[in-house]
Amino acid sequence: MTKYIFVAGGVMSGIGKGVTVSSIGRILKSKGFNVQAVKIDPYINVDAGTMNPIEHGEVFVTEDGTECDQDIGNYERFLDKNLNTENYLTTGRVYQTVIGRERNLGYNGKCVEVIPHIPQEVILRLNKVAKKSNADFCLVEIGGTVGEYQNLVFLEAARMLRLRHPKDVVFVLVSYLPVPEMIGEMKTKPTQYAVRSLNMAGIQPDIIIARSRYPLDKIRKEKISTFCNVSEKDVISAPDISSIYEIPINFEKDNLGNRILKKVGLKGRQSKLGDWQKLVKTIHSRRQKVIKIGIVGKYFKTGNFTLLDSYVSVIEAIKHACYSFNFKPEIVWLNSEEYEKNPKKILELKQFDGIIVPGGFGKRGVEGKIKAIKFVREHKIPFLGLCFGMQLAVIEFARNVCKLKNATSSEFYITQGKGGQLDKLKSLKNKTIEPVIDIMASQKEKIKMGKYGGTMRLGAYQCKLENKSLAKKAYKQSVVYERHRHRYELNNLYRQALEDRGMKMSGINPETNLVEIIEVKNHPFFLASQFHPEFKSRPLSPHPLFKEFIKACSKKKQKEK
Ligand code: GLN
Repeated sequence: MTKYIFVAGGVMSGIGKGVTVSSIGRILKSKGFNVQAVKIDPYINVDAGTMNPIEHGEVFVTEDGTECDQDIGNYERFLDKNLNTENYLTTGRVYQTVIGRERNLGYNGKCVEVIPHIPQEVILRLNKVAKKSNADFCLVEIGGTVGEYQNLVFLEAARMLRLRHPKDVVFVLVSYLPVPEMIGEMKTKPTQYAVRSLNMAGIQPDIIIARSRYPLDKIRKEKISTFCNVSEKDVISAPDISSIYEIPINFEKDNLGNRILKKVGLKGRQSKLGDWQKLVKTIHSRRQKVIKIGIVGKYFKTGNFTLLDSYVSVIEAIKHACYSFNFKPEIVWLNSEEYEKNPKKILELKQFDGIIVPGGFGKRGVEGKIKAIKFVREHKIPFLGLCFGMQLAVIEFARNVCKLKNATSSEFYITQGKGGQLDKLKSLKNKTIEPVIDIMASQKEKIKMGKYGGTMRLGAYQCKLENKSLAKKAYKQSVVYERHRHRYELNNLYRQALEDRGMKMSGINPETNLVEIIEVKNHPFFLASQFHPEFKSRPLSPHPLFKEFIKACSKKKQKEK
């Protein structure tokens, strides 16, 4: 029987449930177990694909094309394993299945109710994930915070599963202990309330991960133990640290892995975290060369705060590549809209070792990004374009090198929502605009019908690499599979014109003849991909394109010295 570890959060969101699950997974994997991880998001959306990144952070894409929560990305990076659609549950997904089954008489005339039928479906899905991969452990992260109405049915699923298999289910609460500035003392009361809320849902946590600014002291451990009904040994200190990759090592200081094994009646085993420890040592080593990367985007601002969540996989991929060379990454956020308002500001790009233009949607900020791309192309600053970044690099090249002044993407001329979009497209042709980035016929139909959810070109597709290209040099192989998430493509009608002026189409999808990678010659590094390489980068095996890019950034820096 697979052992299930449920992880829920207390007190507030954003305290690192996802990396906790990932870290527990890494520890158990290092002990030789086969580990699966599932994320449950308690919203009605069927997947994360329709949500604005500012609202929900990055939309991560799996090999099979599921648009999911960024935590799945963390699981993949820590477990070094591809996950797929079964690893992701939302309220919407669960209800959709239950309602579908009801419509097909799947409940034999019974009244179908939230309890027990929704938790039953959740359990069914968890069992399926576990069985398919023959998992020893299935980690389940319940999104939201305990005490909320939204995730109650999922807690109920955990309770029901534990009732049936008391020896096979562990419940972990990740809680937060604030240290209010005026008092200067770490407070345990919010955690006590969180545990009480869990108790009301019929669940007693076995382990409490105590997140805080500082490590937990003896007094706090005792207090949590006494008031929350867990052994002191099961209160795990989890202070703020500078790198998430340090968390598995920190957890092991409190013996978390073997505490979990004990709960499910298994003998303790040694963790083999040697490679991971080496990584953490590199991250903290002092003698490193700093590589300064600018990311030109727009999904940063939320009120007065800067949100980095929208590009988490890009950030991690930069870090992985830098760590592999023992460089220290310095990442700076550049808001493209500022280059539109203040043209002189573009000169700031000179100080960077490399520039990335990541994925994006819609017209806002686009002209600023195009200006940035022109600048780095002309000033020979290493450039990596990701998805939208590639599309805008093509537009920039078409406008400024091929002299197609009106080059653009038809994305900017299609209004969102059902109906009417095709007329807009037609009028675009009349305006003699050059859609160097265009929508495929099959996508046009979907948009016309207002079918937006899960209908982009999604997931892994084959990409054949050209000989003598930068891409091939980086990958050191001829065929790769990379993950996509976009509706628009390089328009093959303009391919010849672009190639004639020196753009290299260095990666092609053989089935559709779509261009997947472009390069610009006579430049130290100018490469952009229609896919998202960042989704496949792992801390211990960085992505080849990011590595090659960072290498070029380092060379630029060397030259300037
Ligand atoms: N908006 C572009 C498209 O839909 C690019 C999407 C992206 O960057 N992920 O094709």
